Amino acid sequence: MRYCKACVMPDTKPDLSFNAEGVCDACQSAALKNTIDWSAREAEFKELVEKFKTKDGSKYDCIIPVSGGKDSTYQAYLVRQWGLNPLLVHFEPTVRTELGRKNLENIRQFGDVVELKKNPETYKKMAVEGFRRVGDHEWPNHVGIFTFPVRLAVAYNIPLIIWGENSQLEYGGPKAARMKNTLDRRWLEEFGGLLGLRVDDMLGVGGITKEDLVPYRYPSEEELKAAGITGVFLGYYFKWDARPQVELVKQYGFSAKEDGPVECTYLNYENLDEATYAVHDLLKFVKFGFSRATDHACLDIRNGRITREEGVKLVQEFDGKRPRKAIAEFLKYSGMSEAEFDAVVDSFTDKALFETDETGTLKRDEAGDLIKRYQEY
Ligand SMILES: [Zn+2]
Repeated sequence: MRYCKACVMPDTKPDLSFNAEGVCDACQSAALKNTIDWSAREAEFKELVEKFKTKDGSKYDCIIPVSGGKDSTYQAYLVRQWGLNPLLVHFEPTVRTELGRKNLENIRQFGDVVELKKNPETYKKMAVEGFRRVGDHEWPNHVGIFTFPVRLAVAYNIPLIIWGENSQLEYGGPKAARMKNTLDRRWLEEFGGLLGLRVDDMLGVGGITKEDLVPYRYPSEEELKAAGITGVFLGYYFKWDARPQVELVKQYGFSAKEDGPVECTYLNYENLDEATYAVHDLLKFVKFGFSRATDHACLDIRNGRITREEGVKLVQEFDGKRPRKAIAEFLKYSGMSEAEFDAVVDSFTDKALFETDETGTLKRDEAGDLIKRYQEY
């Protein structure tokens, strides 16, 4: 395991590549972002708006998938500024927080919201199965947020879907994907976090039927073609930078967490809507040796807000700390015991990345957290 020489991202991150100088592709993208002609990109967006704006005002101009978080609030705000009338589409999170509810209410100033209130039993079966099989209880959520808005686009004949950042450009990924402006089924299969698990794999799990899976099914190629569905990343047209965007949406009523950072990182404005989300971050840590604090430190380094040294300190302080609140929520939600939970987490832990004793058992520090083998940045 080695770390990027410019940021603090390790080479265990899936899809990330390093150049001969030991710099990761996300850092190279950050430099690239400064060379992009953003006014030309804005002109491209203007063309898109002109193409998709409903001339007679008889229907919505586009769909924006929203969680109510900082990114979707910004997307809805910006799209409104450009004169589009968006339909905001929301997929109910695993365990909604009070702050998430508040922010979802707030986003309605930018457009009408349609929410899929999931069948809780079907969803929970999939969340638990996703946790056991691929180490991600948010699996049905990833499917739902990427699929339900597309189904609505087809059903309501609203061909333009506006997504947020291009995550390959922001966080690293194959070169072709970094410069892409569209999100389609292929992107979802490759980068949507589905971890090789297909929707049909859930058939029969706890008695799940084909009918139960309707909201999780991506429309067919024929349906997409007939409706002319186009999904674009707003981050292709406008230079994405979370921090000033957070400050902006706060002026429009977006609320961050006031009593300190969210678990697994040092920031207080992300993943506020979902009480169990940090379990996902914990699994990412045991699988790859880094977590959300690393992602955030890398962004702050690339955007020139902190030094690499400061980034290392933040990662050491926040990454891989047991997210006790999120775990308690998940145990309550899933009905799992803590021992059962830990056994699943351990089964996904890459022992090459963490210290073990002579019997091969994972070592833990006084706080009960794993000890990374590769501490040299
Ligand atoms: Zn880097």
